[in-house]
Amino acid sequence: MSTKKIPELFGSMVFNDDVMRSRLPKEVYKALTKTIEKGRTIDPAIADVVANAMKDWAIEKGATHYTHWFQPLTGVTAEKHDAFISPIAGDRVVMEFSGKELIKGETDGSSFPSGGLRATFEARGYTAWDPASYAFVKDGTLYIPTAFCSYTGEALDTKTPLLRSMDAISEQALRILRLFGDTTTTRVTTTVGAEQEYFLVNKEYFEKRKDLIYCGRTLFGAPAPKGQEMEDHYFGPIKPKVAAFMDELDEELWKLGINAKTEHNEAAPAQHELAPIYATTNMAVDQNLLTMEYMRLIAERHDLVCLLHEKPYAGVNGSGKHNNWSLSTDGGKNLVDPGKTPRENTRFLLFLSAIIRAVDEYQDLLRMSVAYPGNDHRLGGFEAPPAIISMFLGEEIEDIVDSIIDERTYTDHKAATMNLGIPSVPTFRKDTTDRNRTSPFAFTGNKFEFRSLGSSQNIAMPNVVLNTAVAKVLSDMADQLEGAVGRGEAFAPAVAAIIKDTLTAHKRIIYNGNGYSQEWMAEAARRGLSNLRTTVESCEVLTSEKSVELFARFGVLSSVELRARQEIMLENYAKVLNIEAQTMILMATRQIIPAVEAYIIHLGQAAKAKMEILDGDRSYIRMEKDLVSRLSELNAAAYDAVNTLRQADREASSAGNALAVAVAFRDKVVPAMAALRAPVDEMETLVASEYWPLPTYGEIMHKQ
Ligand code: ADP
Ligand code: MG
Repeated sequence: MSTKKIPELFGSMVFNDDVMRSRLPKEVYKALTKTIEKGRTIDPAIADVVANAMKDWAIEKGATHYTHWFQPLTGVTAEKHDAFISPIAGDRVVMEFSGKELIKGETDGSSFPSGGLRATFEARGYTAWDPASYAFVKDGTLYIPTAFCSYTGEALDTKTPLLRSMDAISEQALRILRLFGDTTTTRVTTTVGAEQEYFLVNKEYFEKRKDLIYCGRTLFGAPAPKGQEMEDHYFGPIKPKVAAFMDELDEELWKLGINAKTEHNEAAPAQHELAPIYATTNMAVDQNLLTMEYMRLIAERHDLVCLLHEKPYAGVNGSGKHNNWSLSTDGGKNLVDPGKTPRENTRFLLFLSAIIRAVDEYQDLLRMSVAYPGNDHRLGGFEAPPAIISMFLGEEIEDIVDSIIDERTYTDHKAATMNLGIPSVPTFRKDTTDRNRTSPFAFTGNKFEFRSLGSSQNIAMPNVVLNTAVAKVLSDMADQLEGAVGRGEAFAPAVAAIIKDTLTAHKRIIYNGNGYSQEWMAEAARRGLSNLRTTVESCEVLTSEKSVELFARFGVLSSVELRARQEIMLENYAKVLNIEAQTMILMATRQIIPAVEAYIIHLGQAAKAKMEILDGDRSYIRMEKDLVSRLSELNAAAYDAVNTLRQADREASSAGNALAVAVAFRDKVVPAMAALRAPVDEMETLVASEYWPLPTYGEIMHKQ
């Protein structure tokens, strides 16, 4: 592609601000942008005009259909396509699209998870246009981002609470800004940049592995002789086939206005990362979902398969997603940018302390927001952030925080100059803080990076929790400050006191050390930080009194909606593990055990042949005997483990309510799966490769 074309291509399939400005009557454009910027409700009168303009534009882009695109609680997106055509007299049709069709859609929602919110006989579900997320054309269809709710108005998706949480944080942040004398800001938005990790695997190998096909991850596999220990993949040269995939991916994403910016190799072999430029949270969520969809789609065009699973392979790094988050005003001011002299930047320090308190007070909810079976393999493993939530601030900010708590004078960190001692290499200014890669929640200069997210997850819920928790703290702080000012107290000392008290009360959440270390596990326990190891423990938090109160206070999720979500999380946990257990049973019984038997027979035949040639001298068949006896033992152990797993799976599935079932899967099925994997992986190292029925780790990871 010629580089000249990129600016033209970028966003060419998006009904974005430029398109709206040029295609809508001035008054309508103004009304619509107001709706978007201020988070207001749309006037139905303008919806017709917008719908018509959208349709004309979409038809020019080759669209014949439209769809309300939504994010049900399945974790993936859903869509139902309708044609624009509308019959008129004389067997003719016109292309039509009304405001009503734009604003509201009706769908038979009964096949989407509702966590008991809707019985199948009450199948009606509604989709409602979200004007704040741009519509776009993809595959001849106009996609309209929507929220999805039940007939009775309960949210059945991830977008509804997200939009509610964005309103909540805006409203509370505005109260704080007013106290600082800001009279011009009218909306505060959260921005998100989601860095996406993924693996690529050759399609030919993928198709030979039922575990990859059904579960997206390997359930068996002995380590390859070479993993990631040489550290030669990270930022290493990109293979041509992968580069071709990345180029096409970039191009498709650019058309949709997704600013895919950085592509590089990651730590594990065949692992890569894509970082986009950040966007308003609701758009960032849509864009990340589209990015994942296109990764899968485009990989196939290059005879590759994109694995978005958190842990496709044991023994090498898994994939996560870094949720870079910050708060900015409609005037473009980043409220978590410390500026040149952070110690004097009271507004920054107040927002910083609010975020610290929010993360500390709602650490278990943040943990919950990243909990699902795929991510259970990462969190607490020695590669991803631990299951314990803590915050890294960097040396400079931590120094400031300490100086405030201890009432010490603080001297500004001067940004040092980096001089490599090579005259031709320019000197440059060092960042005032180094990176900490093990922290789950790190301050990275002018944004916070929540790193516990898994690579396959919808990023909405972590942001819902973050936005709502910060909104709650800002609201408490605003109450306090408004009270003080109302009583005639001076503002500056009142703010200073809040900052100091907050930092003092919540400093336990700050940790700059190595988050993977055993010492930290012990230290975190001493500090009373929660350590929810698996999804099952984590989702209990959703319906605690504290959570219900938080979400109810800002109308983000009702207690009924929370209970439904908890139910869905538990059900999903059991379903995923059941599929994995069934896949293991299938692979072991129908592929692996018979293959080992065949190899044993082969060894037996070899031994017999030797006996004939060597006149029955048994000393020559020592190797065959050894191997046959070891493999027979292991294969029998695998057979027994299959039976145990089958039994455990059956018992777990009928353990009772959703919680009991999930607990049984965690406590019985997970260990039974590990017990089956062990003998199989050992046999893989003993059986001749032509007999082994599965592509090995070495092949999958090193031959793309
Ligand atoms: P790093 O290299 O430290 O991870 P980058 O500057 O490359 O940082 O940014 C990583 C991600 O953070 C990118 O997706 C970027 O768009 C995003 N990001 C940068 N600034 C912000 C911000 N103010 N709000 C949200 N995300 C941001
Ligand atoms: Mg990063």
